[in-house]
Amino acid sequence: MKKISELVLFLFASFLIASCSSVSSGGDEDAKNQKIAEENGFYLVAAQAETAPVASADDAADDIAIWYNSQKPEASTIIAADKQRGLVVYNLDGEELYNYPVGNINNVDVHSRFGFQGDSVSLVGASNRSENTVNLWKVNAADGSLEALELSKPLNPKTKEVYGFTFYKSITAPRPEYENRFYAITVGTDGKLEQWELSDDKGKIKTRLGRVVQFDSQCEGLVADDETGNLFVAEEAVGIWKMPATPASGDKKELIGDLSKGKLAADIEGLALYQGAGIKGYLIASSQGNNSFAVFTLGSKNKYLGSFMIMAGGGIDGTSETDGIAAMNLGLGSDFPDGVFIAQDGYNYDGEEQVNQNFKLVNWKDIAGQFEPWLLIDNSFVGERNR
Ligand code: CA
Ligand code: CA
Ligand code: CA
Ligand code: CA
Ligand code: CA
Ligand code: CA
Repeated sequence: MKKISELVLFLFASFLIASCSSVSSGGDEDAKNQKIAEENGFYLVAAQAETAPVASADDAADDIAIWYNSQKPEASTIIAADKQRGLVVYNLDGEELYNYPVGNINNVDVHSRFGFQGDSVSLVGASNRSENTVNLWKVNAADGSLEALELSKPLNPKTKEVYGFTFYKSITAPRPEYENRFYAITVGTDGKLEQWELSDDKGKIKTRLGRVVQFDSQCEGLVADDETGNLFVAEEAVGIWKMPATPASGDKKELIGDLSKGKLAADIEGLALYQGAGIKGYLIASSQGNNSFAVFTLGSKNKYLGSFMIMAGGGIDGTSETDGIAAMNLGLGSDFPDGVFIAQDGYNYDGEEQVNQNFKLVNWKDIAGQFEPWLLIDNSFVGERNR
């Protein structure tokens, strides 16, 4: 009798766990993803590496940015947000190098062409929900560690809760007075987007609010394309907006990824660019509702080319309910000679055991080769942000 009651208890407990999270094991995650892929005709890839789990339990890992080490590409780093703790820096093997417990960091970006103290520095910026502010660091090129930078006065967005974050440098501004300006763009959970110009103020960073654009509902994912001068904004339950990235363009915007049609499923979360020569790159969006990543052309039409999913393979679990994503076209040494795509994973399994969330690294060539026809592989084009 005892055995049977234990079994019933076990089954009941398993049922409870299964109903609390959308997947209860690595095998379940993969079975669910297989079904979604078949129903939608999505392409399938596997990760080549994964990072160590973040320190915080539950929903904690969120966004990532890739710092390109131009001197030593294989020593490039992944700068990631643990939204219950701070920033974490990983190497390309997924090992944690540094962590900075500065609060509830939500989204993060890095840009290597910020003019500072007579030099170009790799600037890291992140939205911090603990203080409703933006933190800035510079990357120490020698070891990939981060050094906090001081602001002349704190950058406090007017939004109630700062959420999304991206940098933008206006190398193709429509008017000379807007050329080569450097911006931090934030968006809050109330849909208020704010664009801040950053400049060097004798070793501190001065900020100036350039424009405010109010969206109708919650937005998070942001990415700006220096080369085309476009800003992409993910309004989580609506779709992806494209707007000119210079503040002078006001609130002019166009819906390019519409949730009411196609293969996107709410929430639309992270956005990333895969860059290529002659604007031949891609905009990639995390379609969190169906565990997939949608690929659009970066040219004027932003045509949808298909979606892919990260499945289990080589001892690494698949990816589901992804928040942040990042992509790099440049080769990163012998492990990722054709660039990399990185995605947060909402349910990280070590075998069948669920562990803290982490980030998956996929060889770009593995993704490109799944598409029909192949996606571009361009490991020589150097965008402004990676110079
Ligand atoms: Ca999440
Ligand atoms: Ca990011
Ligand atoms: Ca979100
Ligand atoms: Ca997973
Ligand atoms: Ca998020
Ligand atoms: Ca894992």
